[in-house]
Amino acid sequence: MRIARFSIDGNVAFGAVEGDPSEPDTLAIDIIKGIPFAEFELSGTKVPLSKVRLLPPVLPSKVVAFGRNYAEHAAELGNEVPDAPFAFFKPSTSVIGTGDPVPYPAFSAELHHEAELAVVIGRMCREVPRDRVAEVILGYTCANDLTARDVQRTEKQWARAKGFDASCPLGPWVETDMDLETAAALAITCTVNGELRQAGRTSQMTHAIADLIVNISEAMTLLPGDVILTGTPAGVGPLNVGDEVAVSIEGIGTLTNKVIKRG
Ligand code: MG
Repeated sequence: MRIARFSIDGNVAFGAVEGDPSEPDTLAIDIIKGIPFAEFELSGTKVPLSKVRLLPPVLPSKVVAFGRNYAEHAAELGNEVPDAPFAFFKPSTSVIGTGDPVPYPAFSAELHHEAELAVVIGRMCREVPRDRVAEVILGYTCANDLTARDVQRTEKQWARAKGFDASCPLGPWVETDMDLETAAALAITCTVNGELRQAGRTSQMTHAIADLIVNISEAMTLLPGDVILTGTPAGVGPLNVGDEVAVSIEGIGTLTNKVIKRG
């Protein structure tokens, strides 16, 4: 099931997206009664996707992002692949949805895209054993770990470089019919104005999805709706005002955002 969060006529709801994403006219949302983190029912009330505004598919209490988890990407920035996973935070205020604009951060002159597979946590958990990781996952979506690369080079902590407003586009929806094995073998791409910039496969991750969730849940409780970013393949590069950046992941969908001048 593809679970979206959306607004229509000022009301916000979750819904199941039905239809063929390659034919947008066929897409409709069946409104969910309740929330997707518990037992829920489809209402049977369907709205054409074109009539709604898609919102970030979840409102995470935290986004935990793992760095340098693809060897070729670590190398392109002159970094070693870490022996153990290492994580940083992106704040809840960095999250936006597909179609939302990204104001170019005022304190940077080097905004970069990073296409990533995002894992959405489905239930409260901590100290998750490796063989039970699948139980805590609601599904998967696309993410763009937008980065002020110049600031990342000069500041030891990445709170500003990777935590600025709109630095975490998520969407378009959460695909819940996907097991860990499938999620570990997906094509992931990033285009800018239609030009291919990143093309990788989630099988190239150094530390597997399950290991990332074991690692972070050793330290902290994960809540329903929390999001884990799993690292980016090689090919990161600059974005300019006016650019349209799109992250596509096989079996999930496409997350598209435009960079605008900060007002
Ligand atoms: Mg990243």
